[in-house]
Parts: sequence; structure tokens; C-alpha cells
Amino acid sequence: MNCEEAGRLLHPYADSELELQAALAIEQHLQDCARCRASFAGLTTLRAALARACEPERAPPPLRARIVRELAGRAAPAADRRRNWLAAAPGIAALVLVGGLLLAQPWRAHTAAGDRAHVVFHIATADNLSANLRTLKNHLDASPGLHAVVVAHNAGVEFLLRGARDETGRPYAEIVRDFRERGVEFRVCTNTLTRRQIDTAAVIPEAVLVPSGIAEISRLQAREGYVYLRL
Ligand SMILES: [Zn+2]
Repeated sequence: MNCEEAGRLLHPYADSELELQAALAIEQHLQDCARCRASFAGLTTLRAALARACEPERAPPPLRARIVRELAGRAAPAADRRRNWLAAAPGIAALVLVGGLLLAQPWRAHTAAGDRAHVVFHIATADNLSANLRTLKNHLDASPGLHAVVVAHNAGVEFLLRGARDETGRPYAEIVRDFRERGVEFRVCTNTLTRRQIDTAAVIPEAVLVPSGIAEISRLQAREGYVYLRL
């Protein structure tokens, strides 16, 4: 495993969401690599601070008992779409959802959002942008219910800056607005802007700033069950 792979897996590893083999590989890498060990230490410190700042609220016992009773007598129609262990225990899964006992809801994309596929598109280069946006459009045409988030990072942020135009002279802001009307969200990496000394005010209002494009992508994958596509 190299540092790039390790970087992608740190968040899911911290969430204990990795398969055994991947978890062992990252542990091995952390033993060998001081730099990744430092990132991981930073990540766990941050998470501990966040967890302290937002202690999950437990439903009061009478409410929990009532939810369990009500769910016990009710079949869950969407159970077959859930992950296996959730299907095996729909009552518990629903209790967790309804009672808000957990902070993280990695299965949210499979339940609350029903059948809508969730895809995060990563744009990290300004090359082939028109072709990439056509790919995105084709995905949307093929699956109209698709929930798509575009995360722009490195040179990929350029089309989301004010005044950017495609090779035919059409403002990208217009193209982005069309996508926004179809529910696509655009997120721009603030680390990239800082590194490239681009003022955040230069970003078109149709796009939203996130602190780190890479962290946003791993969050969407690990926490919200998004499928990752690099354009
Ligand atoms: Zn490393």
C-alpha cells in the first residue's frame, strides 16, 4: 500500500468500516510510514474533539421502548434493499434511525433515500472538461433519479471560477446552472484555492466551498454510501 491509497482509507479505517484485509494493510502501512501515522493521529484527535462536541442524544427509555414495540409488529418492506445485517434486524436498524442513537448513518443512502443512486464525481483536472461534463450528463440521462455531487479539486476547480468559458465560448456558469436544476451539487476544495492563491469570491455562487475536496470525497463514500467516479 502506498501513501495515496493509505490517505484514501484513513477515514473509513478510523470508522472501522474497512474489510479485514484492507484494515491489516493500512495498519502495516501506518507502522512503516511516519507521515501517514501523523495524519492518522491528527484525524483521530479531530474526531475525538468532534465526538465530544456533539455527543449523540439517546432517546429517553420510554420512547425507545415504544419504538421497539411498534416496530416489532411491523414488517419492513425495504428490508431486502438494506445491507445483510440490517435486513436481519430491521427492528434494530429502524430503532437506531428513528431514535437517532448514532451519529453516523452509513446506510442512509440505502434507506432514507430509497432507490436513488448516490455518486460523487471527482474532477481533478481541467483537461477534457467538456467530455467529462458530457459523461456526467449521460449518467443523469441514463438514471434520472441519480443524486450526483461533483467535487472539484486541483486544476479541476477552474471551470467553477467566475468568467470561465468552454471552448465554444459558453460560460461554464450556465452549464453548471443547468446541472443544478437537475439536482447536481458542485463542491470546490478550499485547500486548492488557498494553494493556488485564488480568492474564494472568484468561485461562482452555484458552487459550494468545502474545506478539503479529498476529505469531502472520503466523507461522502464512508459516511453516506456514495459511489466514487473519477472523471
Ligand atoms: Zn504513507
